[in-house]
Amino acid sequence: MSILKKIIRWARIKSPWIIHFNTGACNACDIEIVAALTPRYDLERFGVIIKGTPRHADVLVCSGPVTLQTQDRLLRIYEQMPEPKFVVAVGTCACSGGVFQGCYSVRAGIDSILPVSVFIPGCPASPKAIIDGVVKLLDSLEDKPKKEMAPVLPKKELAQGNAT
Ligand code: SF4
Repeated sequence: MSILKKIIRWARIKSPWIIHFNTGACNACDIEIVAALTPRYDLERFGVIIKGTPRHADVLVCSGPVTLQTQDRLLRIYEQMPEPKFVVAVGTCACSGGVFQGCYSVRAGIDSILPVSVFIPGCPASPKAIIDGVVKLLDSLEDKPKKEMAPVLPKKELAQGNAT
């Protein structure tokens, strides 16, 4: 790997820029994301900065199930992000559709439309779980032996909405 690529990867891991999009959440997961970012839980200590435009973001943080109304906007936001980009699904609804699964206006979880790197279950997902998910994402971006990488949560566990 060239020096330039190493520097870019180091910068990405040390200061991931995120954008948050509510794809149809009830708002509780959004409040928890805000709580994780603000001084009490202080996600910024990991260099995480929230951005207002997808063109500057490395990580797309989604809350809520994908609704038919928001699916096109979600895709447009994702396509505007530069590569490499990562998606984090926050809350049981984002992981699997949750309580809205089967609703006439709901498609399913975020992974029905985008590749998701980290699933953070919970209704709502707690700030601690959100921080844990982001740290695991950053860990997985480093060159570590497989055994040290973040464990992937089993899909069955996600569907049951078990909070971490
Ligand atoms: S997981 Fe729970 S808190 Fe989060 S959007 Fe769904 S219903 Fe609301």
